[in-house]
Amino acid sequence: MFVLMYDVIDRKRNGQAITEHEIKFLVDGFTAGEIPDYQMSAFLMAVCINGMTPQETTWLTKAMVESGDTVDLSSIPGIKVDKHSTGGVGDKTTLIVAPMVASCGVPVAKMSGRGLGHTGGTIDKLESIPGFNTAISMQQFIQNVNSINLSVVDKVGNIAPADKKIYALRDVTATVSSLPLIASSIMSKKIASGADKIVLDVKYGSGAFMKTAEEATELAKEMCEIGRLAGKGTAALVTNMDVPLGRNIGNFLEVKECIKVLSGETTGLEDLVEVCISLATHMLFLAEKGSLNHCQHLAQDSLENGCALAKFKEFVECQGGRWADIEGDKNPYMNEFSVDFCASQDGYIYRMDVQTVGLASVELGAGRQTKDSIIDFGAGIELFKKTGDWVSKGEPLGKLFSQDLNKITVASQMLEQAYHYSALAPAKNQLIEAIITDKY
Ligand code: URA
Repeated sequence: MFVLMYDVIDRKRNGQAITEHEIKFLVDGFTAGEIPDYQMSAFLMAVCINGMTPQETTWLTKAMVESGDTVDLSSIPGIKVDKHSTGGVGDKTTLIVAPMVASCGVPVAKMSGRGLGHTGGTIDKLESIPGFNTAISMQQFIQNVNSINLSVVDKVGNIAPADKKIYALRDVTATVSSLPLIASSIMSKKIASGADKIVLDVKYGSGAFMKTAEEATELAKEMCEIGRLAGKGTAALVTNMDVPLGRNIGNFLEVKECIKVLSGETTGLEDLVEVCISLATHMLFLAEKGSLNHCQHLAQDSLENGCALAKFKEFVECQGGRWADIEGDKNPYMNEFSVDFCASQDGYIYRMDVQTVGLASVELGAGRQTKDSIIDFGAGIELFKKTGDWVSKGEPLGKLFSQDLNKITVASQMLEQAYHYSALAPAKNQLIEAIITDKY
């Protein structure tokens, strides 16, 4: 059946439905370079403005999955569970949750991404561990999961190439923040990655792509439904990102914080621990390890009995990381400058603009300003004070790390804009706003 791209754009602009055949035509045509950027951009903008029906979003996801390879994990026995976060600041949960779940006997074969905009990425964090190889072959990836229950890699194979191309276009045409586009982008990669079950951490707030709990809940529901239709049991937590998670932002700083949590340390890191335990609980539940209550105990115990830490060490060494370089107080990035940044007035920290905090860490060198930027793995921010804390003028709010003192000056100025004070303590936000499931 012949499809006219002009007609598809025109109908989407007028808020009318389009067919599965038309969606497949435009995804395949764009991936093959037959549909030009300007027509795809016009279509994406029409979707941003008028949305898509759940049925259209499912078709879009399916077409993006079919644009590339699907990973076959059938040679790994057991129920394979994946997790994905929609992105936040200080969001290091994969490095904690994956070894927790793997240490409870559930295989975790995970593909992760790099930092995006103001948000960090698991692959960059892992690569801050000297020697760690995130680019192992598919064969090695499967072998590692079969021997230690855990491997995390940068994408292997040709996973959802349509998403890669469409995402690059969205990034420069102000069409990232669209619920159906985000849902199909994330779920196409998760479905193609081959796991049997998926747990999503859908973030909302000033440091997330979704700004409100309502939007995030809608996105979570849509992604769970896409998972269900693809035959993958999916659960989603909707979690708050109005405050950075944990106290460290920046690749190696975050690895060290993860090792603390895996060692059973929780002081000052209660928010991070709560989200990790909840994510691990739902992963274990989907892997049929028992009731939710039992799975929560399993998750908690894995942190307290040292099994999750031992699994993390095993995982690091299995992918070439040099544990001896990072254990205890060791820090391979000792050549960073470090400077405190301080409160500009007395008061409660009423609100943090977390996107700006994330961008300040990018400025320090923890993320990429251009796609060719080289990451400074030791760069980042350690937060002594967060939303809800009382501070006095001149009191240190945190410490900035970078190889470049000029960058520290710019990042300090950015952070000054990011902190807002009040004589009144702010209301405490719920950390886990909702849990969406298709099954329980
Ligand atoms: N992460 C993705 O992979 N895709 C999006 O669209 C947004 C966040």
